[in-house]
Amino acid sequence: MVNADTKLFAILGCPVKHSFSPQLYNEWFRKESLNCIYFAIELNIKSFKKVFNCMRFLGFSGFNITLPYKAEVIKYLDIVDNVVKKIGSVNTVCVKNNKFYGYNTDWMGFINDLSDKNINLKNKNILVVGAGGAARSILYALKKLKTDKIYITNRTIKNAEKLSKVFNVGSISLQKARDLLPSIDMLINCSSCGMDLQDVLPFDVGKFKCKLIVYDLIYNKLTPFIKFAKANKLKVFTGEGMLIRQGACNFEIWTGIYPDVEKFKKFRSFD
Ligand code: NDP
Repeated sequence: MVNADTKLFAILGCPVKHSFSPQLYNEWFRKESLNCIYFAIELNIKSFKKVFNCMRFLGFSGFNITLPYKAEVIKYLDIVDNVVKKIGSVNTVCVKNNKFYGYNTDWMGFINDLSDKNINLKNKNILVVGAGGAARSILYALKKLKTDKIYITNRTIKNAEKLSKVFNVGSISLQKARDLLPSIDMLINCSSCGMDLQDVLPFDVGKFKCKLIVYDLIYNKLTPFIKFAKANKLKVFTGEGMLIRQGACNFEIWTGIYPDVEKFKKFRSFD
């Protein structure tokens, strides 16, 4: 029951009306019998600072940050760890003794999802598409997983080149991605390509390994990457596993409990 002791949590972003997070965390709070509640708060760029300060005054215990504020939020936090400094974005804030601690758990969600799916990327060749915040988290994770070669490609090549220097990986134009594909074991879409129904694959696909795995971080759309994988009977994963597991890591940061991820394993299916 919600009462004066109820701890407050939320997601801040724009848009968040579609967000699955309230359903996810409120279910976990209920399951663990914790007196906590989670809201979705949609805010525009002009009100971000004000809303952020309100979180402090209203006594929120923690919150998630999503697009487009994941980098912006860093300057308002009291403490961030080295992972945040490397990745450059925060998706989770925990309030302890009135201090705001910022974390990035997207990379952990990806690693935990691969582990639960028994996918070992050690010595594998990876092609990352996209060079935004999500790509940074994935590159960080891939480095931890001791993959062999990592290449990054992006619509705006200079953004890929920038990331290739930060993470010491190869960058390649979309045109050349086609030639590289036959040597790739996993293609990871970290771009927003597919969020719009009109989007098409950003590069021509020629030859590829019959064991190529396609992993698309987008979790709620039938993207061109998913369509390509399904049409060619390739193993394909959407971002739902990563999303749920980063949520589980956030829940553990806030409550000390790693929740049950089984129930939410497949909240949206394209099969
Ligand atoms: P950003 O806005 O930071 O970056 C977007 C990237 O996508 C840029 O590299 C951009 O290229 C590229 N891009 C955008 N539109 C297109 C297009 N039509 N065709 C090709 N490339 C395009 O977003 P994020 O990195 O934060 O997020 C990317 C996606 O990942 C989102 O759709 C988000 O939903 C998903 N995501 C999923 C998570 C999960 O847990 N499953 C976690 C985080 C993100 P350019 O540089 O040229 O602008």
